[in-house]
Amino acid sequence: MKQSFPSSGNRAVSSFFTDHPVYTTENDSLLNHKNAARWFALLQDAISKDVYTFENILQGKSGPCVQVNGGAFTMMSSYDYLGLIGHPALEDAAIYAIRKYGTGSGGVRLLTGTNQLHEILEQKISSFIGTEAAIVYNSGYMANIAAITALFKKTDRIIVDEFVHHSIWDGLRILGVVPQTFRHNYMLSLETALATVHLADRTVIITEGIFSMDGDICPLDRIVEMKKQYKAVLMVDEAHSMGVLGRGGRGIHEHCRIAAGEVDVYTGSLSKAIPSNGGFIATRRDVALYLKHGSGPYIFSSALTPANTACALKAFSLIETAPERLQKLWENTLLLTILLKEIGVNTGQSASPVIPIITGDSNKALQLSKLLFNQGYIANAVVYPAVPPNRARLRICCTASQSAEQIKGFAKALKKSFMKIEGTTSCPSTQKSFV
Ligand code: PMP
Repeated sequence: MKQSFPSSGNRAVSSFFTDHPVYTTENDSLLNHKNAARWFALLQDAISKDVYTFENILQGKSGPCVQVNGGAFTMMSSYDYLGLIGHPALEDAAIYAIRKYGTGSGGVRLLTGTNQLHEILEQKISSFIGTEAAIVYNSGYMANIAAITALFKKTDRIIVDEFVHHSIWDGLRILGVVPQTFRHNYMLSLETALATVHLADRTVIITEGIFSMDGDICPLDRIVEMKKQYKAVLMVDEAHSMGVLGRGGRGIHEHCRIAAGEVDVYTGSLSKAIPSNGGFIATRRDVALYLKHGSGPYIFSSALTPANTACALKAFSLIETAPERLQKLWENTLLLTILLKEIGVNTGQSASPVIPIITGDSNKALQLSKLLFNQGYIANAVVYPAVPPNRARLRICCTASQSAEQIKGFAKALKKSFMKIEGTTSCPSTQKSFV
């Protein structure tokens, strides 16, 4: 039986533009700003073309099947890499923590907000990654802000991969430093930057394990060699790689067979493979001690809730005791990668469960997302400024809980959608024939 799907997107957004058919931000006391004008123009355009697919409001848990606007959808863009959202043991741990420690932490970490769970989670993260210590923050975003603003100085020479996450750029902005960038994952470009003459007393390199928009992996072994040669400090954001890379899911250093201590500062999130909320910094013991007293988000933002802390803690145990989830994640990744190659879409350099389907044109990405939605799939479009202009894409994430049927169904729906957009049998990204 043919199923029909409800319309996508947040209804409040579309109804706003129905109420204000011609909306302008000019002369508005709060919205007279070029960013606001750009966003309103983009939103208005997407709504008028019926391709606004952002902020679909879930009516239940996330997972491989979700409910939106009363319809059932296959989720193809969730960060829940190990498929752990909804695991009964995690829910039980969170509920138990609420009963024992309450719903809120009651303060910031340094004053009254730290409970036993925070301490145990920090020990767990450091032993899982292999560092001396770890500190838990409210989010991965805050962990990056904390690390950059507390550890680095305006006078440092900071060299950053051009595609690092927004939170890293925000941290650098707060610090007031103008970083040097190197071409994404291109070691010659990093080496050229490192070799330039400079007067700074310290050089810092910042990169990511798995890149969040492209799904490619940093060559950590080569970066560590250069870090040593140029006596630099190395910070790596493991938001998407911890729990995903390496035989035990311990992250980029395990994947590259490098000792954990070769990286000076790891930052990461507890909202992806670890299906909770929160973030962390894993580093040396003395550095951690300083961060507890010298990093803003630790001192001025309330501590992570007991439920989130307990859930994250339990998730680490599940990862350690049930490696088959990691195996399933990579089986699914391989299956989808093969199917996408057969279709001939442009997936860039992806080598992980994060798989972009690069359309270049943002309208095309939005249209594709909408066509997939109409066939029962949630596949997020990502457009500028989250990715460079003309590099719009669908950002697909494989998880361990998707079935082979769901993945094959998605690939079929994608091919159909591309053909509809192009009105031909050839794929727009590579012009390779579908048939
Ligand atoms: N770093 C990277 C690479 C990310 O992709 C994200 C979030 N998507 C973050 C940091 C922030 O993590 P959180 O969602 O826990 O704030």
